[in-house]
Amino acid sequence: MSQTSDTQPFERWESNVRSYSRAFPAVFSRAKNAEVWDEQGRKWIDFFSGAGTLNYGHNPPSIQKKLVEYISSDGIVHALDSYTVAKREFLARFGKDVLEPRGLDFKVQCCGPTGANSVEAALKLVRRVTGRDGVIAFSGAYHGMSLGAASITGAKSTRRARGVSVGHTTFVPYPVGPMGEFDSLGLLRHQLEDLSSGVELPAAVFIESVQMDGGVYVAPEGFLRELRALCDKHQVLLVVDDIQAGCGRSGKFFSFERAGITPDVVTVSKSIGGMGLPMALLLMKKAHDVWKPGEHTGTFRGHQLSFVAATAALDLWTSAPFQSHLAALSALLQGELAARFKALNSRLEVRGIGGVLGVDVRNAGGEAAAAAVGRACFEQGLMIERCGREDTVLKVLPPLSIPLDQLRAGCAILEGELKRVT
Ligand code: PMP
Repeated sequence: MSQTSDTQPFERWESNVRSYSRAFPAVFSRAKNAEVWDEQGRKWIDFFSGAGTLNYGHNPPSIQKKLVEYISSDGIVHALDSYTVAKREFLARFGKDVLEPRGLDFKVQCCGPTGANSVEAALKLVRRVTGRDGVIAFSGAYHGMSLGAASITGAKSTRRARGVSVGHTTFVPYPVGPMGEFDSLGLLRHQLEDLSSGVELPAAVFIESVQMDGGVYVAPEGFLRELRALCDKHQVLLVVDDIQAGCGRSGKFFSFERAGITPDVVTVSKSIGGMGLPMALLLMKKAHDVWKPGEHTGTFRGHQLSFVAATAALDLWTSAPFQSHLAALSALLQGELAARFKALNSRLEVRGIGGVLGVDVRNAGGEAAAAAVGRACFEQGLMIERCGREDTVLKVLPPLSIPLDQLRAGCAILEGELKRVT
C-alpha cells in the first residue's frame, strides 16, 4: 500500500464485510483495458477482470463513446421495464447475433442487476414450470449470496453466512474436483431412477458447465450431453449458470456450446453489461415462459445504460479482430503458458478452458502458499484472485481483450512468485 493513500474513511465507515479491498490493498482511480492504476499512479496488470465482468476490458473506447453520447443526448436512464429504444436495440442485437445463429429459441427476462437475482428467478421459474420443489446442485458450485442462490451454492462460507437452513437442494459431486473424478451421472441416475432412492423427482439440475469460483473445473463435454439426456428422460429442467463462464470466457459465447447442448434455462450476467455495468438476464425456452406479468419484478431490471453498453459490446463480440484475438489468447493460455506453469513443479495442478486458467497449489504449499503468491503478485504489479475450496487456486482471468504481451508479462510475474513460494 502506498504510504500516502488515505484509507481512513473505508476503515471508519465501511462494513467489515468488504473483501476485495483486503486482497488488493490500494485505492484505485483509473483503468484501461487490462491495466489498472491507483491514485498514486501505481499500475497493475489485471488478471481479475472484475470477477469475470470485464471480458472486453476496462473502458473500451467504443462502449465509452456510446455511453457518453447516450447520456449527453438525455437518453432515458431509468425506465423500470418500460419499452425503450435502448432495450429494443439490445434485444434485437442479442436475438440476431447471439441467439438465432445458435438456434436458441429463448425468451429473455431482464432481472434485477446482479447475477444472484437471475438465479433467484431461475429457481422460482423451474418450480413454477414443474410444480416440484427440489433441485439438484453440484458440490463446489457458486451461484450467489441471496438466500435462494446460496441454497444451491456448495461453498462453506456462503452457506454459513445464510443464517438459516434452507431445504430442497440435493448436492451431487461435480464430475471433476479436488477429490478426483466422480461418477456424477451414476449417482444422478440412481437418485432419479430408483423409486426408493429417497430423493424426490427434482424440478431442475443447476450446473456451471465450468466451475469458476469452485476452482476452475471444466465439466467434460460427454458428461454435459449425458446430463442433458438424463434430464430429458425424466422431464427435469437443466439450468446452466453462465454468469461467469459465459459471454466468451470459454472461447465461445456460451460455455455449454462446446457440448452441443441446449439448456432449458440459462443465467447470464457480469460481462453481458459490456464494461462493468450491472445487468442480469434469464434465458428460457419459450415453452417455459410461464410468468404472469410482474411476477418477478424489481426497480433496476434492465438498466438503460447497461443496454447501451451491452449493445456496443455485441459490436465488439461480432467483430473479426476480437474473435481472432480471442482464439490467439485461448491458444496461448491453454498451450504454451499452461505448459510453463505445469513445468514449474509437478505438484501444481493446472486447469482451464479458453480465457481462464487455474493454477492450484493445494499440493504445493496449500492455502498459505496461495495467499503468499497472491500478495507477492500484487506487490509486483499483478492483480490476481484466488478461488477453490481453500482458496488454493490462482485464477488467471484477464480481460479477453488483453494484449498478448501483457498476458505473457502477467504470467511471468505469477510464474516467478510460484517458483519462489512453492
Ligand atoms: N453465479 C456464478 C457462476 C457466479 O460466478 C456469480 C458471481 N461470482 C454469481 C452467480 C452471482 O453473481 P452476483 O455476484 O452478480 O450476484
